[in-house]
Formats: sequence, structure tokens, C-alpha cells
Amino acid sequence: MSLNDIVENGLCIGCGLCRSLSGPGEIEMIMTPEGRVRPIARKALGHSTLTQINAVCPGTRIAGPDQAQASDAALTDPVWGPAERLALGHAEDPEVRFRGSSGGVLTALGQFMLSSGRVKFILHVSALRSAPMRSEQRLSFDAASVLEGAGSRYGPVAPLADFSDILDRGEPFALIAKPCDITAVRNLARLDPRVHDHMRYALAFVCGGASDLSKSEQVLQRFGLREDELALFRYRGHGNPGLNRIETRDGRAFELTYRQLWEDEDKWMIQPRCKICPDAIGQVADIVASDAWLNGGPAVDDEALNGIIVRTRRGLELFDAAVAAGALAIKRETSFVELGELQSHQVRKRRAVWARLKGMEIAGKPVPVVTDLALKDCALQNSLADNLAEGRGARDRARRGRLGEPRPVPRGGSEAAMSKDGRL
Ligand SMILES: Cc1cc2nc3c(=O)[nH]c(=O)nc-3n(C[C@H](O)[C@H](O)[C@H](O)COP(=O)(O)OP(=O)(O)OC[C@H]3O[C@@H](n4cnc5c(N)ncnc54)[C@H](O)[C@@H]3O)c2cc1C
Ligand code: SF4
Ligand code: SF4
Repeated sequence: MSLNDIVENGLCIGCGLCRSLSGPGEIEMIMTPEGRVRPIARKALGHSTLTQINAVCPGTRIAGPDQAQASDAALTDPVWGPAERLALGHAEDPEVRFRGSSGGVLTALGQFMLSSGRVKFILHVSALRSAPMRSEQRLSFDAASVLEGAGSRYGPVAPLADFSDILDRGEPFALIAKPCDITAVRNLARLDPRVHDHMRYALAFVCGGASDLSKSEQVLQRFGLREDELALFRYRGHGNPGLNRIETRDGRAFELTYRQLWEDEDKWMIQPRCKICPDAIGQVADIVASDAWLNGGPAVDDEALNGIIVRTRRGLELFDAAVAAGALAIKRETSFVELGELQSHQVRKRRAVWARLKGMEIAGKPVPVVTDLALKDCALQNSLADNLAEGRGARDRARRGRLGEPRPVPRGGSEAAMSKDGRL
């Protein structure tokens, strides 16, 4: 597929890896009028570049976990995939726990990987300082910088736009990102040995989907604000889940609860690729952190806590060392059954994706090549009627173009393109 085919068929999530693999000036990441970060080719791409992009893009190829990374003792579940350990826990440091999106586990692990000398830096994302409603890729070399990236960034961001340059550094690092970003990097690892050589850990969060920037722009409209007035745009964190807090340069503050932010599902503005995501639960990561609202949902600020799925032997060594060093505190063990109760929307999605992809195929649309993710086994947990409804729904939406996207064009003015350092 061409780059435009990938985007227009709703398969792109804007990770930026294609840009990182292209030659100078060939691909730029742009912000589209819909509020999505998308690649556009500025020159005709050569056959080998396009072949490489098709091999690594997480919109075209989604592979499951590498069995060789699991121990003989690993648990497995058709919906949840492999696990060396399942726990509920949080960052031991109270500030990290407070500022983290849920319980600060990913931030605490990022800091621990640095302090224990396992890696030189963490590749993750944070709010863009000059435009805090937007997000940017960040390389963190110290604990303070990792902490600055704490919290969920629901809008678009391209953490892999400079991934090739990052590999060129030749230093050990860890990636903290969405499951699809990690899929992209695992795809690349099959072609580029530097990924195995330098990327020591890949950590993910369980992901319900990334919103268009337009979702955040709606919030500004609600308060009558302009983006250039903002000093802070925090989606959550500072509690679990914490408030969506906006501060302006002239000292005003505005807040929405998590429930208010997400109350109207029609306005979630989740990107098309997310609706057919076969691995939003990070089966390809070493460790995955999730929300764990034991009171049944974020009605009020809950105990700051994560679900933790340790997926690989490498992840288990890191997890055990982080607990022993006092970076992570474990409340108790958990189970696939409890995770399923806490993350029922993820269970529903895992069971629905096989039929959705079939529906898209019937509508004549391209779908990603998905391997080793037990999609059919998950679908068999649904009734025939449910599968038919999912398949027909996807087929009809695909025929109406609702699973696709317009050809990407930049928004006007200064936001047209991403600069060399990956900022929009
Ligand atoms: C788009 C999105 C959807 C989510 N959906 C779910 C869900 O369905 N179920 C669920 O249990 N949890 C979901 N979460 C995850 C949840 O909000 C927490 O991020 C997760 O529990 C980890 O919490 P933590 O306190 O350990 O994270 P923190 O310690 O706050 O660390 C979060 C890390 O994730 C990185 N990060 C944040 N946003 C992004 C992004 N957009 N792309 C790449 N990296 C990012 C940050 O740089 C930081 O390093 C979602 C998060 C996001 C961003
Ligand atoms: S998903 Fe990533 S690699 Fe694929 S086209 Fe989009 S930005 Fe490029
Ligand atoms: S739902 Fe899937 S495709 Fe969408 S952002 Fe999350 S991991 Fe990526």
C-alpha cells in the first residue's frame, strides 16, 4: 500500500516510524484538519522504502508476542495473552504515585531503569512546552524528566518519528508507549538488528484509543479559550484519575472531571485504527500498566493504583528488581478474571475485532495482517449473533467510509509540518 492508502483506509495511528525510515525530506508528519498526526510523502517514495514501511507499519502488520520471551511458568489467556505475573500496585514514591496517570507504575519503572543503570534514556512522550495541549516525543535521561512525562496524553503524538536517529545513538534505552507503537518497533526489529541491540525494554499501557486533537479543542471551546492562551493542559494524573486541568498564561484555571471529559461517547473522537485494534492490551510489551478502579469506575478520585501485567522474562526481572529496590509497591496479586472485570471494554473489543476485520474485508477494504493474537479464539467467546452484528456493522461502516479517513492534508499556517526534532 502507498502511504496514502494506509491513511485513507483508516489504518494509520500516526506513530511516525515511516518518517524515521525515509530519506531526508521524503516524509513529513503533519497535523490534519481532523486533528490527527499523519505522514505525507513530499516526494515519490522508492520501492524499497515503501516495502520497508509496509513491513513495519502497525497499520499493515500486527504480530503477537514472541513465545521465546516467555518462561515455562507463564500464564496465558485467549483474551489477555501471556503473563509472568499479574498484580495490583503503585509507585512507592508518593509524588510519582500522585502525579502518575493511575498509580505511577510506568513512571516509577522508567526512573528505576535509569537509576539502576539498565538504560541510558527513556523514549516516551510529554506535553509540548510551547503548546501544552499537544504532545511531543521526549528522551528522558534523568528521573525529573521522566516524571515530567507522567500522565496520559490522550491526543495524537508521533513517538517514533525519529526512531532511526535514536537507534543511531547506539545506547541502551527503553520505550514507554502505546501498544501500537510497540508493535511498530517489534516489526522493525525483524529488519533492523539495532532494535534488539539497543532497546532493552518496551513498556505499554492498556489503551482504549487515542483521540483526535479536536477532542481537546472541544474542551477549549467549552471554556471559550484559545490554544495560544494555555500554560497547562493536563488530561489526568495528580490523583487517580485526577482532573482534566487547564491553566492560562494569565493565571486562570479550568477543570473537568474524568467523567465530564468522557461523558459523551459520540465525542470521544477516537481514531479509526483504534476501533479495529487487535492488541490494545499490549501483548508485545515487556510490562503493561492499566487502570485499576476497584470501586467500579472513576466516579470519584480512587486509590492511586495500577493493574500490572508482566509479560516477558525480561519484564519479570525488571519488575522483581523494582519491587526489591522499593520503586514499586505491590498491593496484591490479581488474575485474568479480575482484569477482565476491571477492563470489560477491552474484553469486548478483543472479542469483536476478528468479526470487524472480516466485515471490512467483505466491504473490499484492506485490513492489517494479524498473526499470533488469537483473534478467532476471542471471537469464539462471542455468540454467533454478536459476531454477525459486529461483522455487519463494520462492513456497513466501511462501505459508508466511516472506517476510513480523508487524504491527509496539513492544517493551514504554521502547523503544517513536523520539524527535524519531531515537534509539530
Ligand atoms: C490514549 C490512552 C488511552 C488509554 N486507555 C486506557 C484503557 O482503556 N484502560 C486502561 O486501563 N488504561 C488506559 N490508559 C492508560 C492509563 O491512563 C494509564 O496511562 C496507565 O494506567 C498507566 O498509568 P501510570 O500511572 O503507570 O502511568 P504514568 O506513570 O503516568 O506514565 C504514563 C507514561 O505513558 C506515556 N504516555 C502517555 N500518553 C501517551 C501517548 N499518547 N502515547 C505514548 N505514550 C504516552 C507517558 O510519557 C508516560 O511515560 C490510556 C492511556 C492513554 C494515553
Ligand atoms: S501507522 Fe506509523 S508507520 Fe504506519 S503510516 Fe502511520 S505513521 Fe507511518
Ligand atoms: S487502541 Fe490500539 S491503535 Fe489505538 S492508540 Fe491504542 S494501541 Fe494504538
